[in-house]
Amino acid sequence: MANYSVNQQGQLVVKCSECEKEIVEHKEDIYMDFEVDSTNDRSMSVEKIHSAIIPIQCDCGNEVQVTISVCEYPEGCHSEENDSIDVDFGELVSCFSLELPKY
Ligand SMILES: [Zn+2]
Repeated sequence: MANYSVNQQGQLVVKCSECEKEIVEHKEDIYMDFEVDSTNDRSMSVEKIHSAIIPIQCDCGNEVQVTISVCEYPEGCHSEENDSIDVDFGELVSCFSLELPKY
């Protein structure tokens, strides 16, 4: 189970902290440059956190920064309940369902 509100239309929706406007971005229009952010040794295998930072420009000039972290554990498996989405200069409304990145 994802721990964020999943957007069934495949969109990322955030609310700007400056003007409170909702900004909608389609998954296909978002470039996600994932990299392995951290690794932890756990019982079955290593756990990897893949992170990507998405800057979203609001019309008011504010830049909302979304950090998507996808958890891989055990190796090759997506551990959805450990995914996280952090938003700076804004608030998360909903996000398309996350997948393990392919490099
Ligand atoms: Zn704004």
